[in-house]
Amino acid sequence: MTYKIPFNIPPYAGGELENLKTACEVNHKICGDGPFTKWCKEWIEQRTGTAECLLTTSGTDALELAALLTHVQPGDEVIMPAYTFCSTADAFVLRGAVPVFVDIRPDTMNIDETKIEDAITDRTRVIVCVHYAGVACEMDTILDIARRHHLQVVEDAAQAVMSTYKGKALGAIGDYGCYSFHETKNYSMGEGGATLIQDAAMAEEAEIIREKGTNRSQFFRGQVDKYTWVNYGSSYLPSELNAAYLAAQLKIADKINNARLARWQQYYEELTPLSQAGRIELPAVPEGCVHNAHMFYIKCRDIDERQQLINTLKDHSILAVFHYIPLHTAPAGRKFCRFHGEDRYTTKESERLLRLPMYYTLTEDNVDEVVSVVREFYRTH
Ligand SMILES: *Cc1c(COP(=O)(O)O)cnc(C)c1O
Repeated sequence: MTYKIPFNIPPYAGGELENLKTACEVNHKICGDGPFTKWCKEWIEQRTGTAECLLTTSGTDALELAALLTHVQPGDEVIMPAYTFCSTADAFVLRGAVPVFVDIRPDTMNIDETKIEDAITDRTRVIVCVHYAGVACEMDTILDIARRHHLQVVEDAAQAVMSTYKGKALGAIGDYGCYSFHETKNYSMGEGGATLIQDAAMAEEAEIIREKGTNRSQFFRGQVDKYTWVNYGSSYLPSELNAAYLAAQLKIADKINNARLARWQQYYEELTPLSQAGRIELPAVPEGCVHNAHMFYIKCRDIDERQQLINTLKDHSILAVFHYIPLHTAPAGRKFCRFHGEDRYTTKESERLLRLPMYYTLTEDNVDEVVSVVREFYRTH
């Protein structure tokens, strides 16, 4: 089914096909780690200040690479929210580790930093914070807990490219940061991602794991005279064709970001009267957080009202969608993970949250139209 206003249109900057042509006809390089991959890597390193950025085949693989770098062992515990995409947990489950979920904050839908310390045991090794909707977790508190308990911090910053916390780029604050360039994200290469590594001393190991456990990256730089199998690894490097696509978007990243922020602000302002009337809740952006308008969501009264609103929007050819089913309630979550403490907000808030259409080419008129249907819905309910 096609919608007049779909939920997402993959970002398209205009320079992608030109770059693909260059990769094929000029660079004659379509496998991984060619000039476009290098350009994207350096762009991310410069913009975020991270020591090392490695492009990956997906956000999921960025998380897998980060999980390998943490050296978690079977039975080790990893604290994270249950309100996230399954890949956040999968990356660690694949290593035999146990995701331990703690509740989220209802204002940002991020991990509740005040619940983390109580979940720490002598098996805890890592805290994973997910910056939901590109709005930062409370990183000062999380880093302080991690320091005091000797834990590593992995940021699932899949939604948070171009967002900051107290001036620092999300993804470049914890030990490892993971970006996604899936077509549903702000910048895309179809399928793709990146792992950001804060400690330059871990870069070599990361490079080797990403290149099937070989030191091929060092070989290409002339640092070794032949390459060989030196560690365990996988193939996490994306094709140069995907990187060429991404490069066109990163080149106009500020333009894309500003366009999204303008539509986000428009939603926020036009829906403020409904929020003041107590009919819906609007997203919160805590002080010190600069977000990237990855998503615009509202919260309805409950799951039934949300479904009615989804149906009403559908009647107007507008697609709005709910989001994560909390992982501890999913079959794999019940098998591999546990929830520590009370699920006070995770399930309840996830059932109320509704995401409205948001993409680079969304127009001012589109937002007006979505808002007018939402307003009309609440006038008659
Ligand atoms: C999109 C996303 C992922 C997975 O990224 P892919 O590129 O689709 O593998 C992981 N975590 C979060 C929070 C995401 O939003």
